[in-house]
Amino acid sequence: MKCSKADQLMMKYMDGILSMEEAKQLNLHLTECDACKEEFFAYQKMIDVLQDGQFYKAPDDFESTVMNRIKDIEVEYEIKKTVPIETISAIVWGFFSLIFGIGVLLVLYRQPVLEYLVQNPYLGEWANSMIPAMDILSAYINDFKTEMTNILGTSKYIFEVLRLILIPIVAVLGVVKYYIYRKEKVEI
Ligand SMILES: [Zn+2]
Repeated sequence: MKCSKADQLMMKYMDGILSMEEAKQLNLHLTECDACKEEFFAYQKMIDVLQDGQFYKAPDDFESTVMNRIKDIEVEYEIKKTVPIETISAIVWGFFSLIFGIGVLLVLYRQPVLEYLVQNPYLGEWANSMIPAMDILSAYINDFKTEMTNILGTSKYIFEVLRLILIPIVAVLGVVKYYIYRKEKVEI
């Protein structure tokens, strides 16, 4: 068995959907391949940590700590803007925000956006080929929304606040950062 196949089986094992036959195959490979054996033990360790209930319990000051750190990062970014590494991080952030912004818009307005693009005579073909990527992106953003809702508490109120306030803000931020990035690129 190839290591890539063993890796797939390890993923299935993590998800708890490994068949008896696959378990045998994986076991055989692990006895022959040290690299995969090491990886397997690392996965096992991860499962153990995740199954430990304490892992999920955020401390009471979690939110304020995170917010303070975000503020620090923002300040650093403003001061050291001209340092190359900061430019790189700005570009990465810009792209991330842009992709995230697009994803958010897709989640909110996927159907009308797609219909518009597919009907457009110039973009139609391109839009059709982009549909799988859009599906992945919008699924990812949906997962992220679910994660955020879980982290902040399952109340419906918080979800509504996220949807109505945070997500459009992030979307706008993404577009703004993209333009800043474009502007910086032109100036360089
Ligand atoms: Zn291997």
